[in-house]
Amino acid sequence: MIPVCPKCDAQLFSLRFKEVEVDFCEHCRGLWLDAGELEALMRQTGGSGDDPLLAFQNQPGASPRDHKHLCPRCDQTLREVAVPRPRAEALHLDRCPRGHGLWFDANELQQLLALFPPASGATHTIAFLNEFLGPVNAT
Ligand SMILES: [Zn+2]
Ligand SMILES: [Zn+2]
Repeated sequence: MIPVCPKCDAQLFSLRFKEVEVDFCEHCRGLWLDAGELEALMRQTGGSGDDPLLAFQNQPGASPRDHKHLCPRCDQTLREVAVPRPRAEALHLDRCPRGHGLWFDANELQQLLALFPPASGATHTIAFLNEFLGPVNAT
């Protein structure tokens, strides 16, 4: 099936980040990462790809507060997982209840990576993404 953006229903395009193929929406600049691709991307940009923070992916997640968004792989309604932030409201990400992966709105992947400790090497991944996608303003 042709993957479509959970947020705007536009067709997703494959983008190659190093050895990781992610799905990108040109319209809203959101990104879909299949399960394991976040870790792979972190490893390939010089990080460990292994940090306790990654356990947020194991949350069962909550039903979405407003609109339903569908997994580009299986059309199940994505559930909201919350990643706590020290000085801001929690970061809410969309996760497939069947574990296919995660949806990141524009810049959410960079915001997530900014929460990782320096030892994880996540700053390298952020620099890579900003170079690849161009910096976007936080919304
Ligand atoms: Zn979109
Ligand atoms: Zn799914």
